Amino acid sequence: MIYADNAATTKMSRRAIEKMVLLTEETYGNPSSLYTFGQRAKEALEEARATVAKLIGAEPREILFTSGGSEADNQAIISAAELGKKNGKKHIISSAFEHHAVLHTLNKLKKEGFEITLLDVHENGLILPEEVEAAIKDDTCLVTIMFANNEIGTIQPIREIGAICRKKNVLFHTDAVQAIGHLPINVIDDNIDMLSASAHKFHGPKGVGFLYAKKGIRLSNLIEGGAQERGRRAGTENVPGIAAMAEALNESVEKMAENAEKLTEKRNKLIKGLKEIPHSAINGDEVKRLPSNVNFCFEGIEGESLLLLLDDKGIAASSGSACTSGSLDPSHVLLAIGRVHDVAHGSLRLSIGEDITDEDVDYIIKSVKEVVEYLRGFSPVWRDLVAGKSQFILP
Ligand SMILES: *Cc1c(COP(=O)(O)O)cnc(C)c1O
Repeated sequence: MIYADNAATTKMSRRAIEKMVLLTEETYGNPSSLYTFGQRAKEALEEARATVAKLIGAEPREILFTSGGSEADNQAIISAAELGKKNGKKHIISSAFEHHAVLHTLNKLKKEGFEITLLDVHENGLILPEEVEAAIKDDTCLVTIMFANNEIGTIQPIREIGAICRKKNVLFHTDAVQAIGHLPINVIDDNIDMLSASAHKFHGPKGVGFLYAKKGIRLSNLIEGGAQERGRRAGTENVPGIAAMAEALNESVEKMAENAEKLTEKRNKLIKGLKEIPHSAINGDEVKRLPSNVNFCFEGIEGESLLLLLDDKGIAASSGSACTSGSLDPSHVLLAIGRVHDVAHGSLRLSIGEDITDEDVDYIIKSVKEVVEYLRGFSPVWRDLVAGKSQFILP
């Protein structure tokens, strides 16, 4: 089996698993308890906080542990909205291709009377800093733009966008779930006020993540109860998960340069191979993308059929097409970069892992070529295209 869906989730690293087992077996006290048993858990928690903070250039008290990326996105956006509301600022800027954890939170705020501007994304999957600047108004309380997109992997000019927000005195949040542990991030150099992260996207456990919020930003609680996390998130902390996350992030940052180099080489080989398929196109900028991400559209086929047949060949991949996401519309990300419905339905995302080999890459290219050709063989859409009854969109 070749696992090429690392943007959906990653395998836990051995070091993270060992850390998690150790803390589960030995340090199971409640970090809020005053006796030594509890204080050991508290120490492990604070050690993890210090590790995570250091790895992104933050201070420990600026790190709030959450149940994952979705919760961190919700809390960042809702906090900024509540702060804005107090000052009569009810305008938020984001982009059309954010993760649903961001878009659905913004939808909720829209119903509560906030004005939401979703910036268009260019065909190459990028947002220009000057477009963010032009959208900022006197009553803008937040700009939230993702670091790297989860479907097409494109990397946004975060530092430049952050600098504009600083200049205009607007809070800047970035959903860095796909980027952290894979790209260098420093919240000071990158002008970031708030950042969301999730452990299971960098070889840590599922159900744990964190929100970085620059000191001075008052966060709103999503969960009421005890005084954990400086009163900003109630509930007994997931100490083994949090410690394993810190371990996984440490390891990912240690190996970042080496992994990026290897993945980029394999990614480029995959792109080169898949481009040979006629009437296909890569989605998103070829260079400004995550080292792990390959995303293509193939005209005349359905993405879900492609996925199932690849699964039969032992390849786990993903598609932005309808059935996989449980809705009739194709991926909002592919539509945001201007792909028409029919083309967007025939998409394939491969997000490769560090253990991929050259043989795997060759096998994936060969398999995708075979499956696309096979599916086109009995596709009525393809037949019409070949017969000239309809026009090809992709060259
Ligand atoms: C996976 C992901 C999330 C959600 O993170 P969870 O920990 O699964 O809640 C949010 N944003 C992006 C960009 C993601 O890829």
